[in-house]
Amino acid sequence: MTRELFREDSYLKCCEAIVTAVEDGAFCVDQTVFYPLGGGQPGDTGTLHRSNGDTLSIIDCYRHRESNNHLHLCEEGVILPEVGETVTLKLNWERRHRLMRMHSCMHMLCVAVPAPVTGGSIRDGSGRLDFDLPSPPDKEVIQATLNRLVIEDHPMSLMWITDEEMAAQQELVRTMSVTPPMGTGRVRLVKFGDTDLQPCGGTHVSSTAEIGPVRVLSIKKKGKQNRRITVEFA
Ligand SMILES: [Zn+2]
Repeated sequence: MTRELFREDSYLKCCEAIVTAVEDGAFCVDQTVFYPLGGGQPGDTGTLHRSNGDTLSIIDCYRHRESNNHLHLCEEGVILPEVGETVTLKLNWERRHRLMRMHSCMHMLCVAVPAPVTGGSIRDGSGRLDFDLPSPPDKEVIQATLNRLVIEDHPMSLMWITDEEMAAQQELVRTMSVTPPMGTGRVRLVKFGDTDLQPCGGTHVSSTAEIGPVRVLSIKKKGKQNRRITVEFA
């Protein structure tokens, strides 16, 4: 199981790690700053630095279902590091920070639209959530609410509760299609001031002002009473 350094500190940009496995153009390490694809957030990209001076591009990161190891995917044909080797992992921080800002913006979208969430995903520069809403919401009102929440600068904090406490507080789960990350004995709650509190395994900025100005790109009908709201940086 790879130790996830970004869980406690999403601002870590690099770390040292020991290579634990190499297979099919990917490698695993004992610990990492790379977020693996999941919860609607893409896997991180960046570079691996070997002690011999070689640098490899890491083009994606995802979690192996059974082992819980994070596979860091490299470009085809490169010489991968060796098992037992100590390497340095560096994030493409500019991209990750944009993903953190947009991910945090999705929490604010949950505040701006008080309806059940049925799905969502984040890209570099934009993000979308699907809401179970019978009538179309007002685009201008949502955009104004989002930007107000950004300006109000709500601080982010993390709280950990047990699986049992989580099971007793199902009202905290906003995304109907995503079960909270349970099974390890504890669940991480992400809190933005007094505006939003929900279990989430993604990476977030330290306060909402860091999201910056945003605009609602579109509101589309997807299915019977499903509304897809897409937001981008203004
Ligand atoms: Zn989140």
